[in-house]
Amino acid sequence: MLVVMKAHATEEQVRAVCEKIESLGYRAHAMPGAQRTAIGITGNQGEVEPGTLEELPGVQELIRVSKPYKLVSRDVKQENTVIRFPGTDATVGGPGLAIMAGPCAIESREQAMAVAERVCRAGAQFFRGGAYKPRTSPYSFQGLGEQGLQIMAEVRDKFGMKIVTEAIDNESLELVEQYADIIQIGARNMQNFSLLKRAGRTRKPVLLKRGMSATLEEFLMAAEYVMSEGNYQVILCERGVRTFADHTRNTLDLSVVPAVRRLSHLPILVDPSHGTGKRNKVTPLSRAAVAVGADGLIVEVHSEPDKALSDGMQSLYPEQFEELMAQVRQIAPVVGRTVPGIGAHVSVDLRTQTDFHAPAAD
Ligand code: PEP
Ligand code: MN
Repeated sequence: MLVVMKAHATEEQVRAVCEKIESLGYRAHAMPGAQRTAIGITGNQGEVEPGTLEELPGVQELIRVSKPYKLVSRDVKQENTVIRFPGTDATVGGPGLAIMAGPCAIESREQAMAVAERVCRAGAQFFRGGAYKPRTSPYSFQGLGEQGLQIMAEVRDKFGMKIVTEAIDNESLELVEQYADIIQIGARNMQNFSLLKRAGRTRKPVLLKRGMSATLEEFLMAAEYVMSEGNYQVILCERGVRTFADHTRNTLDLSVVPAVRRLSHLPILVDPSHGTGKRNKVTPLSRAAVAVGADGLIVEVHSEPDKALSDGMQSLYPEQFEELMAQVRQIAPVVGRTVPGIGAHVSVDLRTQTDFHAPAAD
């Protein structure tokens, strides 16, 4: 159930409706919009009895939300959600594209600083890197843990980038939330419901990656878990799904971007690195992601991909990332987007650049 307030409803009227909802044993989620505030009701097992709410001052109407996801839905909030980061002009979901780049895993201070310097200069406003890595093999590098988080905090201090890093369980989330500007929940954890609920109780934005075999509805329901606990700052991320195709690591489902936009007000990013698993496909798919309307990109970059402790095959060399940014800068205005950041503006002729100079083979 959704309570739509009148356009000129006062804050007190909104508060009174929320209090009434809570007194009935439900949870109220006030979502202010440009035209009006809507209040989502969750925690009800069956129908909410509309009578008592309908009569309250400032209430315009009550709407039954028929979709299984409610707070995620555009029915509850018509305008796009824009996530802001105080002290910078970086946003996720605003007109400026959110560009996140960095290594798959934080391996050492030197490695992180070297990549951070290059991606920052190229225009990334967010630095990505895993301190806790969900690996297929228990014998693979598992991440530096808190030491990795400390290195990321140093990157933030030195370069002013916001940091994005993954929490793999409730325990790591306790630490990650103390360091990160954005908490990543990985594809393998998209339906880890206790982790989603815990992420819903943090104050930091959550970057939620689509599970490898998740339908759009399952993806949105995972976001609903986070929002239902009171954290409305959720960023969705398409990172490829598993199909029969074996020319790429995953099949990047770019069609999910307009599908999400239609149904939800939440921002959606694209991860062309995990989405393809192949370095030479990352830039073409980044161009396509921007063209299809993604709110930004999250890209793996490493100074020495051959020596990377994880995901070297899909990591761009820093100079390839610079080229990617130059191409994204050309495409962004075509779809009404800007590319904030301090990177130099380099012009590239896209007609002649299908696959550009890779310093080394995949
Ligand atoms: C990552 O971002 O390094 C990662 C492990 O991503 P995903 O959860 O999409 O596989
Ligand atoms: Mn990775």
